[in-house]
Amino acid sequence: QSKNAQKEGELPSVRFSDIAGCDEAVQEASELVDFLKAPLEYRRLGAKMPSGLMLYGPPGTGKTLLAKAVAGEAGAAFYAMSGSDFVEMFVGVGAARVRDVFAKARLNTPAIIFIDEVDAVGAKRGGGSGGGGGHREADQTLNQLLVEMDGFGGNERLLVIAATNRLDTLDPALLRPGRFSRHVHVGPPSEDGRLSILNVHAKGKPLAEDVDLPQLAKVTAGSSGAELAEMLNEGAIMAARGKRPEITHEDLFEGFLRVVAGPRKASAMLA
Ligand code: ATP
Repeated sequence: QSKNAQKEGELPSVRFSDIAGCDEAVQEASELVDFLKAPLEYRRLGAKMPSGLMLYGPPGTGKTLLAKAVAGEAGAAFYAMSGSDFVEMFVGVGAARVRDVFAKARLNTPAIIFIDEVDAVGAKRGGGSGGGGGHREADQTLNQLLVEMDGFGGNERLLVIAATNRLDTLDPALLRPGRFSRHVHVGPPSEDGRLSILNVHAKGKPLAEDVDLPQLAKVTAGSSGAELAEMLNEGAIMAARGKRPEITHEDLFEGFLRVVAGPRKASAMLA
């Protein structure tokens, strides 16, 4: 919830330096920042800005963060919506909301429109597997999105970034040239990646001498960036509760248990 707490159309403060462990995705995204910042240079050479970027990968790997960083780096206004918001809506409301957001963003370029969980509206039409398949409201919302994306041919300083956990379930119409033709994988972090993420989130958190971040990066195999950030935050809360001046290894261990097992189970495990 908090990650979308930002006001509509605001310029995010997130930068590429806030993202770690997914250098290739950041590299691809930074090309688009250049486009947004200096469109004339590109146009002079006949290059067209892609209208859409599709980020895909498991939950909590930093897709939303990356979209915000593109806006932050490019000095662009950020408009966010989530495909899941449209699922329970009356027919036509989702399409109207899409139209409204695009209209606002066009008046406020450079701008990024971010659509999280795009599979909720963009699943293969008529298919039974996806959240939006065969669902009339989702179909209308998707159609409106396609119409809007066809309406700007890479001449506006407007970029639509969408995120999904499941690229394979998306309607191929969404992935066609001129729409979300660029796909960037944001995968689970490697051990090195986890260490960089831990370092980013350890900033401003006093750590006790017994904390060994490289060791933590090793034992947290399978954890996402979101889980690592949560672990450090929970560890800080533990230390504050215990009135300790620094976050100890034990605080982080308990923080980790709270993230993977939930607070109640974690205290039972430690009791
Ligand atoms: P979802 O698919 O669930 O929407 P997501 O991929 O969009 O997840 P984010 O919302 O960007 O994930 O991540 C949540 C939080 O986790 C971020 O705000 C950040 O604090 C932390 N985080 C996740 N990935 C990274 C990363 N690669 N580097 C630094 N922090 C990260």
